[in-house]
Amino acid sequence: MERVILIKYGELTTKKGNRNFFVNTLYQNIKNKLKNYDVTITKDISRMYIKFQEEDIEKIKDILNHIFGIHMYHIAYIVDTNIDTIKETVLELMKNQTFKTFKVETKRSDKSFPYQSTEINPMIGSYLLKNIDQIAVDVHYPEVLIQIEVRPGKSYIYTNGYKGCGGYPLGVQKKALLMLSGGIDSPVAGYLAMKRGVLVDAVYFEAIPHTSLEARNKVIDLCKKLAKYSNKINLHIVNFTKIQEEIYKNVDKDYGITIMRRMMYRIMELLAKQLDALVIVNGESIGQVASQTLSSMNVINEVTNLPIIRPVACLDKLEIIDIAKKIDTYDISILPFEDCCTVFVPKHPVINPKLEACMKMEERFDFKSLIEETVQEVKHMTITDFEAEFEKIL
Ligand code: ATP
Ligand code: MG
Repeated sequence: MERVILIKYGELTTKKGNRNFFVNTLYQNIKNKLKNYDVTITKDISRMYIKFQEEDIEKIKDILNHIFGIHMYHIAYIVDTNIDTIKETVLELMKNQTFKTFKVETKRSDKSFPYQSTEINPMIGSYLLKNIDQIAVDVHYPEVLIQIEVRPGKSYIYTNGYKGCGGYPLGVQKKALLMLSGGIDSPVAGYLAMKRGVLVDAVYFEAIPHTSLEARNKVIDLCKKLAKYSNKINLHIVNFTKIQEEIYKNVDKDYGITIMRRMMYRIMELLAKQLDALVIVNGESIGQVASQTLSSMNVINEVTNLPIIRPVACLDKLEIIDIAKKIDTYDISILPFEDCCTVFVPKHPVINPKLEACMKMEERFDFKSLIEETVQEVKHMTITDFEAEFEKIL
């Protein structure tokens, strides 16, 4: 029997004015991700259909599970629009399944079809009850929801589907720069921003030789995980060594982190301009460490006018960890290699830093030219979801 993947957009459909743009972006994203597969993709305003080769189904499902903007998808059977064929097909599909309760739900867009939805549901329901033992209808909490879409010529029949990752299609928003460290929080922040359709480039600050190449590789591995949700992630690597050393030499120890983060934001702002990014995204979470108290955020944020999105600002660490596990970044994040923040951490970082104090301390060294020099030396690389590409080549 002919099968097709039927995709439901969910949240998209509420965006009335932008609907076409959203659907087209999703269509393009799905097409890109499935470019190595023999598929035919068609779309209308509320559904997308993918014709696929049976042997590819598991791999295609894995890819669809990482595409934002997909609310649900089902494997649907296509049959002629004819009540007997529909009845027989439903029975054929259900008789080998183990279930106790079910419900039939019909949508009829073929207005010339002789039966209305309210007539079709009981017809199919009673046919199943007659032919399969020990099952019952449950209209509130059915184990299996049998859905029938009656269309002119061909109809679609499907049961429980697969939950997609939701959100908006990547690219319906412009670009953000994600501050990506090797920790648990920032990959989660990146994932959550991408889920809103935001295109994300990552920026990593390193301080070699105080930080290791392993720490950088960790960040690259995290980008690979994030790239599963897009086609690629551009990673920009900032050599932060000189600035960190100057801070260490010139700034009171308790203000070290505060000043360091002000420098990071200044660099981020310049990079954002260079890379056409509109906002900064990071993994700050209120109160998690001294530099993330509201007083610290206020003083650190003062150096930039760019909006800073903090998707995990109000989440508990355990909630962040749950997401990290779900998106498979957790095991990489907990590897022990230190990033530049942890190397220079003072024993007693200031919890309520004062803006005037920051400004005074920053006058002690020529940070402006250091920042300019640092931005000029940023290294750029592009990271793809290698595993998927690799598997296909093999
Ligand atoms: P953890 O998950 O252990 O909290 P973290 O990476 O979140 O680690 P924080 O010190 O809490 O570390 O830093 C707050 C945020 O600042 C990070 O989530 C990240 O967005 C950004 N950040 C910190 N260090 C770096 C770095 N070396 N490169 C890029 N961004 C960084
Ligand atoms: Mg953190």
